[in-house]
Amino acid sequence: MRFDVDMHGWVRQARRLPSPNCDARPCGMPVCLLVIHCISLPRGCYGGAAVAQLFANTLDTQADPRLADLAGLRVSSHFLIRRDGELLQFVSGHQRAWHAGVSCWQGRPGCNDFSIGVELEGVDDGPYTDAQYEVLAALQQGLLGAYPLRAQAAHSDIAPGRKTDPGPGFEWSRASAQLERVAR
Ligand SMILES: [Zn+2]
Repeated sequence: MRFDVDMHGWVRQARRLPSPNCDARPCGMPVCLLVIHCISLPRGCYGGAAVAQLFANTLDTQADPRLADLAGLRVSSHFLIRRDGELLQFVSGHQRAWHAGVSCWQGRPGCNDFSIGVELEGVDDGPYTDAQYEVLAALQQGLLGAYPLRAQAAHSDIAPGRKTDPGPGFEWSRASAQLERVAR
């Protein structure tokens, strides 16, 4: 498996679902950090359209009480890796996706400025699939060819006390060895 990033920051092999929830990175800001997340909507429900709808601002948050607290949220991630390994891309790597929120890494606040966000379809107290690890590793390789990434962190590493994803079920040893986990 091999992923290539085109000159506009899109992975050629990913399903492209552009999100409006993005903007420009600060001028000249190197993309040095990969942030690993998990998401599923409703929580623990896999394979549906709700996550893509959330990032497109088309999610009907009234349809299910479990989605009510997402009303009005404007968020996105660069990538989502589904349980079966399908790779979706919502925001160009050149752009700033809105995935990390209030966050800090190595003393630098605002991690969205300099990171790429990867969501794994899952829950923060459960395991991930072999297909997800395979796609993540290939994605990391592809991104390393396009951006000066030097570390990876969990969302919970950069937003401690506020976020718990991707959780203890994520096996860091199965992510790219070229990207060391640097938590703070
Ligand atoms: Zn997260």
